[in-house]
Amino acid sequence: MTVAAPNPTISPLERPVTALYGVGPERAAQLGRLEILTVEDLLLHRPRRHEDRSNLRSIAELQLDQAAITHGKIVALGTKWFRKHTKSIFEIILDDGTARLHCRWWNLPYMERYFAVGDDVLVFGKPLGLKPRTIDHPETEVLEGGEENLVHLNRLTPIYPLTEGLPQRWLRSLIWRTLQAFESQIREPWPELTGRLSSGGKTGDPREVQVVKPTTPDTRRLTHNARHSTPDTRCLTLDTPFPTRARAIRMLHFPDTAQQPELARHRLALDEFIELQRRIQLRRRNFETKAQALPCPGDNRFIKPFLGRLGFKLTDAQTAVLRELRKDMCGQHPMRRLLQGDVGSGKTVVAACCALMALESGFSVALMAPTEILAEQHFLNFSNWFHPLALAVELRTGGRKIEDRGRRAEDNQSLLTNHRSPTSAHASRITHHPTLTIGTHTLIETGFAPDNLGLVIIDEQHKFGVAQREQLVRKGRYPHLLVMTATPIPRTLGLTLYGELDVSIITELPPGRGRLQTFVRAADRLPKVWEFMRSQLKAGRQAYVVYPRVEEDGGPKGLKAVTKEFENLRQALAPFRVGLLHGRLRQQEKESVMVAFRANRVQVLLATSLIEVGVDVPNATLMLIENAEQFGLAQLHQLRGRIGRGAQDSICILVAAAKSQQARQRLRVLEDTNDGFRIAEVDLQLRGPGELLGRQQSGLPKFRFGDLAQDLELIKLARELANQLVEPTLK
Ligand code: ADP
Ligand code: MG
Repeated sequence: MTVAAPNPTISPLERPVTALYGVGPERAAQLGRLEILTVEDLLLHRPRRHEDRSNLRSIAELQLDQAAITHGKIVALGTKWFRKHTKSIFEIILDDGTARLHCRWWNLPYMERYFAVGDDVLVFGKPLGLKPRTIDHPETEVLEGGEENLVHLNRLTPIYPLTEGLPQRWLRSLIWRTLQAFESQIREPWPELTGRLSSGGKTGDPREVQVVKPTTPDTRRLTHNARHSTPDTRCLTLDTPFPTRARAIRMLHFPDTAQQPELARHRLALDEFIELQRRIQLRRRNFETKAQALPCPGDNRFIKPFLGRLGFKLTDAQTAVLRELRKDMCGQHPMRRLLQGDVGSGKTVVAACCALMALESGFSVALMAPTEILAEQHFLNFSNWFHPLALAVELRTGGRKIEDRGRRAEDNQSLLTNHRSPTSAHASRITHHPTLTIGTHTLIETGFAPDNLGLVIIDEQHKFGVAQREQLVRKGRYPHLLVMTATPIPRTLGLTLYGELDVSIITELPPGRGRLQTFVRAADRLPKVWEFMRSQLKAGRQAYVVYPRVEEDGGPKGLKAVTKEFENLRQALAPFRVGLLHGRLRQQEKESVMVAFRANRVQVLLATSLIEVGVDVPNATLMLIENAEQFGLAQLHQLRGRIGRGAQDSICILVAAAKSQQARQRLRVLEDTNDGFRIAEVDLQLRGPGELLGRQQSGLPKFRFGDLAQDLELIKLARELANQLVEPTLK
């Protein structure tokens, strides 16, 4: 074994925890399980909560079902085994002179190691009985002499997340000692900013730094009740002086007031956000110094006839966004833009105009979509639109390639179903023309090598990772990039994930759409729902029915599966025809059912959430989602975005399991609003960013202190401060 000499070149805070007195290999391994490797990690180990130990109760004062802290000496302890030694209860009995208290742990026999008769034990928990007084699974700590009163008692005492074998009290002492020793080494991470921040403030305390208030609207009160407040009132007032980093770390562990840990969190989260935003902005700046834009001003020779023949007028919102895109595409640096717009707001047409600008300027365009169904739908639409302009459109999905040049869209439709492959002579004839290539992730693979790629469009981009997006971009020499998403992304997430992209938002839906209403129903109302469905089908409408999974077997009980229901409903719904669509079908089967549904040869489409993105069949005006409690709110909003696309009124019925009252309550948000941004906010509060974005989404940074569900004001401030770091010459 080697003994590590202190390395003078690394900051003391970066030293491994083994450099601390009292931390040997075993303790270090335990800390490692909490991801505490260095002194800094230890100082940033966040208490789960603080316990007010200035107010201890005697055992006799304990009340039923009320959490409280008390202490007493162990007068007896032991483990009882039963069920053939497979189950156990470990129990200690405490006495403090006023009464006795039983503390029990079920099936944790190793607890016995931590206690001995005579120990003075501090207990936090809720009595579940008073005869005798009993608490199950309390938090405990064995009190010892010495520093007690300063560190562990008579104060707001930090309670840390632990792992097996690591005592609360030992960890608290270690953090206390480490803080005493290293507090003076904790530097302000951004000395340049401290210069821009006026120190002192009203209190004259040099440990506080005053943050210059940015040009955001007044956000006075600091409330932390995230669920019931609007995003802007949730964050701290930016007038609050931030503590220095060193002071924040002390407040985090050993606060003087109950508010200090949250104030500390704000400061430490701000540091995290500044670091992230600084990286984002550096990346963007590096990109801009390297990348010369391909000039794509266009000359209107395609766009003009395209818009003329479209059959509707662009909305003001679409026109405004298009103006921004045009400016980008004539700019000095390549466009890097995120186009957001709620489901059905008409992003595809805007993307088409953008593509035409590039094509007019002699560049090829690649459009990538997350599913084959969506790629094919785009192919049909774009060939329809571009065919009269004699522009080449090509489809590439899972090992297949189809081109449209001089062919009518209806023929393409049959081409999709018949699976004819194009002739190579045909392919070679068009290689030197600027081409629009539409495809799935197959575009990323090596086979696709576009000539003169000027624009990359990514649809439903939240289904792709950042890496995939950049791989496609690298197929050209700094092409323009337009990414589109219908999942409205709350601003905190947008700024974190897409901070280096400019953002355009289509703020209104096209006119002339029927009303979309949503109803939440318990499963026992299903017969009525089907009756209603039948009446709609009789009136000539089409419907989607969505189930949470493909097959019955495996997985949780009580969830309906699309294949099973298909068998049932095929007969039940006759004479109407029912189609089946899910991810396990062969591509050819998926296509033919979509073609049949579009052509109204199939009236009811049974599907999984596969149809979530993009599918556009305006005559479908009814959607029934079973086991709706299984889906996230944002996902349900996406799903119901498949209806309400025509002039007819549409209805979405969310059926939730009869017993889950709470689940139905959550779903009512969808009854109340059609605003995707509002829904995404609620989803973020309820389920957190990871779930909201879906598991595929990579690249979401991990924060120790930052909270994307509530830190919008901090993120905005961090962005501004990071900008001062990256562009010190400006302002
Ligand atoms: P999304 O933004 O969800 O991708 P789409 O681009 O699929 O929405 O558009 C939804 C529907 O609205 C399509 O059928 C499209 O043709 C139609 N649409 C788009 N823009 C307009 C408009 N300005 N006026 C009328 N209909 C429009
Ligand atoms: Mg779309």
